[in-house]
Amino acid sequence: MKIGVLALQGDFAEHIQILEKIGVTAVEVRLPQDMADIDGLIIPGGESTTIGKLAVRFGLMEPIRQLASTRPIWGTCAGAIFLARDSRHSQPLLGVMDISIRRNAFGRQAESFETDLDVPDVVTAENSQKVHAVFIRAPLIESVGTDVKVLARLPDGRIVAARQLNLLATAFHPELTGDDRFHRYFLSM
Ligand code: GLN
Repeated sequence: MKIGVLALQGDFAEHIQILEKIGVTAVEVRLPQDMADIDGLIIPGGESTTIGKLAVRFGLMEPIRQLASTRPIWGTCAGAIFLARDSRHSQPLLGVMDISIRRNAFGRQAESFETDLDVPDVVTAENSQKVHAVFIRAPLIESVGTDVKVLARLPDGRIVAARQLNLLATAFHPELTGDDRFHRYFLSM
């Protein structure tokens, strides 16, 4: 299996590291031809406006949208914003996933936080613990379409992870905790 990681900006190196740790070939994607034979794509956290602008500049928007109809794609944080059908800001979005998302929903960098989440779909027989989730200037999934399954909520009910068939969005950063269950879940998709 070969997974592409969009490497325009943000914490793509952390995703590559965790994929390699679990024995998966990871390739950095910067140009359309880098996606030639990948089995899935991860869009990392970072700054979604920058990722979007660079994706436009390098001609990646249409190739990624096409990939979304045949392969799994996972967006973490800024990557989740990039996948969304809409956000309240005007910025280039792929618009492939039927979620609406609000950037920086928890406030400024200083309001970044960590919490433990119940994520029944990703727990395994070997590890049934809650998922420790790191939120860094995180977005919030404000609403989801009828085809979208909510995977995780904060204790107050707000949505922070969702899946629509082959598309996965997490508002937090599983690549920063050393817990590979979300990556394994994505590979199972
Ligand atoms: N605040 C960033 C944005 O709006 C996302 C932050 C992140 O990816 N950790 O794009």
